[in-house]
Amino acid sequence: MTIPFLDLKAINAQYRQELIDAATRVIDSGWYIQGAELKAFETEFAAYCGTKHCIGVANGLDALTLTLRAWRELGKLKEGDEVIVPANTYIASILAVTENRLKPVLVEPDERTYNLCPIKTAAAITRNTKAVLVVHLYGQLAPMTELMALADGHGLLVLEDSAQAHGAQINGKKAGSWGHASGFSFYPGKNLGALGDAGAVTTDDDELAATIRALGNYGSHTKYENLYQGVNSRLDEIQAAMLRVKLKCLDAEIQRRKKIALAYALGITDPVFIQPIRDRRTLGALDDHVFHLYVIRTKLREMVQSRLDKAGIQTLIHYPIPPHLQKAYVSMKYSLGSFPMVEEFSSTLLSLPIGSHLTPDQIDNIIEIVMDSVS
Ligand SMILES: *Cc1c(COP(=O)(O)O)cnc(C)c1O
Repeated sequence: MTIPFLDLKAINAQYRQELIDAATRVIDSGWYIQGAELKAFETEFAAYCGTKHCIGVANGLDALTLTLRAWRELGKLKEGDEVIVPANTYIASILAVTENRLKPVLVEPDERTYNLCPIKTAAAITRNTKAVLVVHLYGQLAPMTELMALADGHGLLVLEDSAQAHGAQINGKKAGSWGHASGFSFYPGKNLGALGDAGAVTTDDDELAATIRALGNYGSHTKYENLYQGVNSRLDEIQAAMLRVKLKCLDAEIQRRKKIALAYALGITDPVFIQPIRDRRTLGALDDHVFHLYVIRTKLREMVQSRLDKAGIQTLIHYPIPPHLQKAYVSMKYSLGSFPMVEEFSSTLLSLPIGSHLTPDQIDNIIEIVMDSVS
C-alpha cells in the first residue's frame, strides 16, 4: 500500500466526463482567450467569495504582484513603502512585494495557528508601513476582524494571499472578501485547482479592478490604447472552463478535507502538536479552515517522516527553508536567528496527506504510525 501526498489524477478523475465536456465546448467554440468561459468563471467565483469583482490572471503570483502594481499606478503605494508579510509564508507572497520594489517587513506568526497575529503585526508598524499582506496559511483564515480593525486604524491597505484558503470563512464571510483585495492561485494542487496555471484577484474596488484588468492585458483599457506598461497575464478559456466544473464541487471537497482533519485531530495527541481544533469537535465549527494542508509539529519529525515513508506514506515539509534564509534574499540581510520561531518550524513541521484520495483505513493507519513513532 502506498499513499501519495496528493493524487491529482484521482482528484480530477472524479470530474473526468464534465472536464472533457467543458474542454470540448472550448475547443469547438474557436475562442481561446478572454471569452465567455472566463467571464462566466469570474462572475461565479466573485459570487462564491462574496465580492463585486473577480479578475482572472495567469497564476497566483501574478494575482499578488499585479494588485500591488495597481496600487502603485493608482498612487496608493510608492517605491520603498513597507509591506508587512508573515515570515513563514511561501516565497511567492514576498516575491510579489519585492518585484514592486516595496520593502517586505517580515513578522513571526502566532505559534499555534501559523498566521499573523494582531499584536506582533501592530508592533511591526512604522511611519513607512503602507500595507499588510495577510496569508491564510495552510487554509486557515487569519484573524481578519482584528487585523482589519488594526489596518483601518493605521490607514493601511490589506492584501490577502488566499492561495491556500478558497472557501474558508468566519461568520459566513469568505477568504478573498476581507481585505481591500485578495490574490488566489488555482495551481493544480490547490483546493480549487485548474489543469495548469491560473489565478485571480477578488475585490470590491471598481478602480482597482479596472487597473488590474488593464495591467494584465499589456496595460490596455481599450484595444490598442495603452495606459500602463503592462504585462500579459490572463486566465485562458480552457482553464476557466475546467475551474467552472471544479468550483461547483469545491464545498464538497472542503467537507471531505474537514472530515479527514477531524479524524487526525482526534487521533493525534501530545506530544505531537496539531493546529488547535481539538475542542471544536463538529465540522460546522471548522469553517475558518479548509485544510489545504494538514500540518503537525514534532521535534521527532525525522523519525515520524521516515516511519511513514517506510510504510509507503508520503509526507512533505511546508516549508523547509524560510524565505529569509533563501539565497534569493541575502539582500534582505537577515540571518540564522532572525526569526527563531519560523526557523524552528522549518525543522519540526510535517504535512500529512489530506484529500479525497484517502480512505478511513488509511487515515487510521497514518495516525497509528505517527503516534507509534513518538511514544
Ligand atoms: C501557491 C501559492 C502562491 C502562488 O501561486 P501560483 O499560482 O503557484 O503562482 C502564492 N502564495 C501562496 C501562499 C501559495 O500557496
